[in-house]
Amino acid sequence: MLTSASNSPVPLDRADLLTEAAYVDGSWIGGNDRITVFNPANGRSIGTIPDIGAQGAETAVSAAERAIHGWRAFDAATRSAVLGRWYEAVMAHEGDLATLMVAEQGKPMAEAIGEIRYAAAYIRWFAEEARRVYGDLIPGPSASKRLAMMRQPVGVVSAITPWNFPLAMITRKAAPALAAGCTMVLKPSELTPFSALALARLADEAGVPPGVFNVVTGRPEEIGRILTDDPRVRKFSFTGSTAVGTMLAARCMATAKRVSLELGGNAPFIVFEDADIEAAMKGLVASKFRNSGQTCVCANRIYVQRGIYADFAERLAERVSRLKPGDGMIETSDQGPLIDDRAIAKVERHIADAVSHGASIIVGGIKAASEGHFFQPTVLIDVSPASLLCREETFGPVAGLVPFDGEADVIALANDSPAGLAAYVYTRDHDRVWRITEALEYGMVGVNTGLISTEVAPFGGIKQSGLGREGSRYGMDEYLEMKLVCHDIA
Ligand code: NAD
Repeated sequence: MLTSASNSPVPLDRADLLTEAAYVDGSWIGGNDRITVFNPANGRSIGTIPDIGAQGAETAVSAAERAIHGWRAFDAATRSAVLGRWYEAVMAHEGDLATLMVAEQGKPMAEAIGEIRYAAAYIRWFAEEARRVYGDLIPGPSASKRLAMMRQPVGVVSAITPWNFPLAMITRKAAPALAAGCTMVLKPSELTPFSALALARLADEAGVPPGVFNVVTGRPEEIGRILTDDPRVRKFSFTGSTAVGTMLAARCMATAKRVSLELGGNAPFIVFEDADIEAAMKGLVASKFRNSGQTCVCANRIYVQRGIYADFAERLAERVSRLKPGDGMIETSDQGPLIDDRAIAKVERHIADAVSHGASIIVGGIKAASEGHFFQPTVLIDVSPASLLCREETFGPVAGLVPFDGEADVIALANDSPAGLAAYVYTRDHDRVWRITEALEYGMVGVNTGLISTEVAPFGGIKQSGLGREGSRYGMDEYLEMKLVCHDIA
């Protein structure tokens, strides 16, 4: 069954890029129960997806298992060419994909276009990497032994992705998996499934064979159980919250699956007195307010050295008060809505808690409009390190400033978290750059920049922020097994 949106509230050049069906074994399938997808900017429905349940997920795993034999047997150049066509298809439809993304996720159009290009860049990168899956020849332990290590695809991969980057969080997994010769069953967030389904349609048009890339939709628990428990799935790759990711990873251990986790962060953003203050301000606004603060690498705790603290707070307040919340389809909007009511409630709880610990709100602090889930871009000063704003990921447009005195103090504050995804430092002191980047317990450190993510570099966290890396040549290792061949020629 193939259903395309008619009278769609999402204005697309190609209406069939909004598909209200799951994609399994190269076919579009439905289900009796349906889940409605809402536009967070106005609360209106933009369409429905089927709940294909455990049975649908099992069918997808069977399809992925059947398809892997043909897909991994292709030579690398052929897989590379298919991925190359997929990249071209995504780029050719960036306008429609961005419109879909704004409608289901809310981010401003310019950010959505940015995400489409960023997502596509992973497909192009791994199309190239597909041809560079090298092994090793190892000197043997005796004269007659020859040792070779070859790399082979892990097998069927299951993946679960979040709503904050509805396309890029998928291509960071699907592109290396397919490049390596694996097949995939993906469950996107039920809040933003249409970007994933459009990606599947473009994969189909690019010549990705049936069963190689499947998108299953429905209630997370039931589908999730198949993706974590089915022994035919050899690898589970998850992006989302630490609570859900660690719970699902534990289930995967019953069948000893390989696991990659990209989980929550709580990024410290540190500004020393010797920093270029204007650059730090620009980097902070980009890191903190992009996607309305709903990014895993978003600055969450802002540590500013005492000598520049008051001036920094004043300049930040002035800059943040100019940010305009609004529907992402409107050109003048530079802050989209939060994803839902729960997100608004979390932000409100964090602000109230910070104020109860002695912080002051100097900009924003309240919900922005009656329609949609908008929250005013907010700045608080004198936030206590004991408050929720410092201890948990806020995931909203709230910048909380904390003063600090010396380098050792701020390193201790920054590392006092179970999260270890991204950290940021602004300073002009080169010796300090090395001291502090070595001391920070984070998977990624931005120095004099608030934007660190690119397809050419390994993205990922340590501590409770995750396992494994996405992007770069290292991102390919997540989908490859090593096999030893030990040959005695005596
Ligand atoms: P979430 O954990 O609530 O959901 C993520 C995915 O898991 C969704 O597809 C959801 O449907 C699914 N899910 C939830 N419960 C499930 C269950 N019981 N069984 C199976 N699937 C289940 O996270 P979210 O709110 O969608 O995303 C925000 C979180 O993602 C934040 O913590 C953010 O930091 C994190 N994130 C991390 C990265 C990274 O690269 N480290 C990137 C983006 C987002």
